[in-house]
Amino acid sequence: MGKIASLEDFKRTVYLSMIIPSLLAMISYMLFVYNQPGHGKYLMLTGVLTFWFTISLILLYQKRLLRIVEYGTLIIISSMHIGTVYDGFYNYIAIDKAGAFGVTIMWVPAVILSFFLILGARRGLFFSLSVFFVIFLMGILNFSEMSEDYLISVIQFYVAYLFYILIIYFSQFLIKLFSDFQDMKENAYTDALTGIGNRPQIDIWLEEKISETTDVPVSVLFFDIDHFKTVNDTYGHKVGDTVLKELAGVVNEYLTVNEQFGRWGGEEFMIISSQSGKNALELADELRLKIKEYHFKTAGSLTVSFGVTEYKAGESVDSFVSRADRGLYQSKDEGRNRVTIV
Ligand code: GH3
Ligand code: MG
Ligand code: MG
Repeated sequence: MGKIASLEDFKRTVYLSMIIPSLLAMISYMLFVYNQPGHGKYLMLTGVLTFWFTISLILLYQKRLLRIVEYGTLIIISSMHIGTVYDGFYNYIAIDKAGAFGVTIMWVPAVILSFFLILGARRGLFFSLSVFFVIFLMGILNFSEMSEDYLISVIQFYVAYLFYILIIYFSQFLIKLFSDFQDMKENAYTDALTGIGNRPQIDIWLEEKISETTDVPVSVLFFDIDHFKTVNDTYGHKVGDTVLKELAGVVNEYLTVNEQFGRWGGEEFMIISSQSGKNALELADELRLKIKEYHFKTAGSLTVSFGVTEYKAGESVDSFVSRADRGLYQSKDEGRNRVTIV
């Protein structure tokens, strides 16, 4: 339901952004030519379109009768489209009079796009090809009467027409491909359970941080939940998973733009901070207290142990992280629920 509602909202926005400039264009066209000769037919058509688009605009604003707006627009646009091409063939091309359907050609991509928007990919393809077929038939009936010049441009018109249909039809797959690719890229660096950065993401952050300028300090806060195995053993893995999510949420809320936060693996997490070791130690202690005071939904009270260290110019990521790891194990050895800086 949510998906459909948002698709409708999306369509409504697209239609509004198409209808408002079209209405302005049509109204100014009518104002410019209403007292000039030779525009009668087009004035009438533009009048009909303006009338329909005004009604559509009101309905779109009121969020009512979207399907009626869509199908009404589909009928009007396709019949006008076929009508103007018919007009081109029978009133200009067949009698070799200048004019043909120049303006119609300009609108072909927008017309086909609206077919696809209104009908969706498959029905849009079927409908566009049907309209193309009707237009193609009108051409065939007139081929014998066309001059060579007209014949060449009419054939080009058909080729371009088919090209537009195919491009619009295939662009949906391209868009899907791009968005899947984007999702894949994001998922590759996100921990599925907690939604924070995963281990590959932490590795990238660390490499980035230590290759940046040396003026800004870099510290690592490595922490691990105390006796987490007991949570799993007592309440089961599901509750264990929830604890990990809750913990990530609590910590995330407390961090600023100076910190990057990821799950190292299991019940171990890492914060990379652009602060000195001394400040990182304070931050770790604040977090330790915050977690200690937090009430986890089923598991109740839990504590964590920290190892904190500041990066030393020139050292490798490995030696940087191992130092934090040593701090963490010292905290565990000394009784847990504490912070050790190394
Ligand atoms: P310590 O205080 O020494 O850290 O003890 P601990 O019990 O936290 O540590 P230990 O390494 O013995 O156990 C960690 C447990 O974390 C074991 C493992 O099953 C559990 N674990 C690791 N990843 C997950 C996970 O994604 N979900 C759940 N529910 N449990 C996990
Ligand atoms: Mg643990
Ligand atoms: Mg552990």
